[in-house]
Amino acid sequence: MRNVVIIGSGCAGNTAAVYAARASLSPLVVMGKHAGGQLSMTTLVENFPGFPEGINGPDLVENIKKQAQSFGAEYVHGDVIDTDLSRRPFRINIEGEWVETRTLIIASGASARWLGLPAEQKLIGHGVSSCATCDGFFYRGKKIMVVGGGDSAMEEANFLTRFGSEVALVHRRDQFRASKIMLDRIRHNPKVKVLTNTVVEDIMDVPTKLVTGVRLKNLATGVVWEQEVDGFFVAIGHIPNTAIFKGQIETDADGYIISKGGPKTNIPGVFHAGDVQDRVYRQAVTAAGMGCMAAIAVERFLEAEGH
Ligand code: NAP
Repeated sequence: MRNVVIIGSGCAGNTAAVYAARASLSPLVVMGKHAGGQLSMTTLVENFPGFPEGINGPDLVENIKKQAQSFGAEYVHGDVIDTDLSRRPFRINIEGEWVETRTLIIASGASARWLGLPAEQKLIGHGVSSCATCDGFFYRGKKIMVVGGGDSAMEEANFLTRFGSEVALVHRRDQFRASKIMLDRIRHNPKVKVLTNTVVEDIMDVPTKLVTGVRLKNLATGVVWEQEVDGFFVAIGHIPNTAIFKGQIETDADGYIISKGGPKTNIPGVFHAGDVQDRVYRQAVTAAGMGCMAAIAVERFLEAEGH
C-alpha cells in the first residue's frame, strides 16, 4: 500500500515528489509515456525563477527528479493504463500491474493537439512540429507556416520570425481567439503574413520524408493552392491527458480537471497539479507551484486520517 502515487513526471509531478518525499511519504512517480512532460521538449527556459542565465528544459525537469529521488521518491517507467477511484484504497494499473494507494496526485499534463491529416504524423520531426521553441532554430532563413488562431499560434509565429525568412499564419476563421495584444503584435510584424478562412488540406512530401509544401483552401472563396513551406508548426491547442479518468474525475467539456478548491478534485484523496487542470497559465513555475500544493494537501489529508 502506497501513501501517494503521482502520475506524471513533468514539472508538476516532480515537484510534488520532492515535497511528498521530504514529508517521508515515499511517493511512487509513474513517469508516463512522455517522461519529463513538455519541458523535456523545450530548449532554453529563461523564465524559471532562480536561473539568471536560463536553464535547458530537460535539465530543469531532470534536476527536480534527482532532487525528489535524493529524498526517497521512487520512479517507475511506463504509463497508467487504468484506474479504479470508486473506493479507497485507490487502485492504479501501471502497465498491467495494479498498485494500491491511499492518495493520488494527477499530474499527467496536456499533449499538443494535431490537425489529424494523414501526412502530419508521418512528417513529425521532418518539418512538422508542435514546438516552436524546440525546433524553430532549424528553419533559419527558411519558409515557415504556423496553424492556429489562439495566443499559442500568435506567440509561436512571432517567435519564429527570429528564424524564418517569412512566416505564414494560417487560421480557419476570420475571428481570432488570441488576445488583442498578441494579435496586434502579429499584425504589425512585417515578416508575418496572415491567411484567414484558410485550412490546410495536405502536407507534402511524405515519400521524401521532408516537408516541402502544403495544399491550402480558402473556405470563403473555395480557391485551392499549393504553397512552399519548410517548417510547419501546429499550434491549435492542447488536449489534457485525462482519458483514463473519464467518468471518475470531474472534468470540463474539453477534458480539463475541474478544481474543487486548490489542488482538490471531486474525489477526496485525489489531487491535481499542472496543465491537466490549468488551461490558462500553463507555465513551468505554476506547474511546480501546483505540485507543491498537491503534495502538501496529500500530507494534511493523510495526517487527518491518522497516517
Ligand atoms: P486556444 O486558445 O484554444 O486556440 C486554439 C486555436 O486553434 C483556435 O484558434 C482554433 O480555431 C484553432 N484550432 C483548433 N482545432 C483546429 C483544427 N482542427 N484545425 C484548425 N484550427 C484549429 O489554444 P492556445 O492558443 O493553445 O491557448 C490556450 C490557452 O493558453 C489560452 O487561454 C491562451 O490565452 C493561453 N496562452 C497564453 C499565452 C500568453 O499569454 N503568452 C501564450 C500561449 C497560450 P477556432 O478559433 O476556429 O476554434
